[in-house]
Amino acid sequence: MSQTPLPLTADERQRYARQIGPGVLSVRGQQLLKGSTALVTRVGGMGGPAAQMLTMAGVGRVIIAHGGDLISPDLNRQVLASEAGLDQPRAPAFAERLRSVNRFVEIEAIDYEPDDDQALELARRCDIILACPPTFEERLRLNRAAVQAAVPLIDAAQWGMSGTLAVYRPGHTACLQCVYPETPPFEELFPVVGGISSAIGSLAALEAIKILSDTGKPLWGKMLTYDAYQGHVSTVQLARRDDCACCGFQEIDP
Ligand SMILES: [Zn+2]
Repeated sequence: MSQTPLPLTADERQRYARQIGPGVLSVRGQQLLKGSTALVTRVGGMGGPAAQMLTMAGVGRVIIAHGGDLISPDLNRQVLASEAGLDQPRAPAFAERLRSVNRFVEIEAIDYEPDDDQALELARRCDIILACPPTFEERLRLNRAAVQAAVPLIDAAQWGMSGTLAVYRPGHTACLQCVYPETPPFEELFPVVGGISSAIGSLAALEAIKILSDTGKPLWGKMLTYDAYQGHVSTVQLARRDDCACCGFQEIDP
């Protein structure tokens, strides 16, 4: 990672006192976090809590991207949402909510889902991408941008009461398209319970915080699955495809 550590003010040291010390972040780790930019798209069931945890932890700049208006079925899981926001655009309201929990963090809101060029431009401005969209089309687009910009990508996915989290590092691990060479079918209004959305979103944020602050052992190249319906957790190592249409051109560092 290549972020510049930024000095912490006394107020910031007080804010983050509970997360600096043995077993958590170092002072330098917190400074690295302050010098970091994270992109979260989208900020619904999983991306909302992910953006909130990144903001509360002190990532210097959090960019959120989500188009469209809030609708009633979103409120079973979207933690940045409120009854007052129904039928209103999500992105500006969610950005205000994030600003209200941490004055030390810059929040940038984009009220649409980025296309290929916009995703690449955003990827080049950030140190990590958290991909939380429902569609594979969007997730694979973010993966392509991450590979081209050589930025780590954390992919979060949910269905019903289960979810998966995978952590990709271009040039070092498999990419999302190695795992899904063909775009799987998409179900528009799939079932989902908010508890799993928030669990997976929070874990995605935790991995991002570890990576950005150089703390602990990130789940590089691994997919964690939490099947809450069956009460089962597993982690598998993901294999890279030499003929991957997205990352096959890259030399992989051992
Ligand atoms: Zn690949």
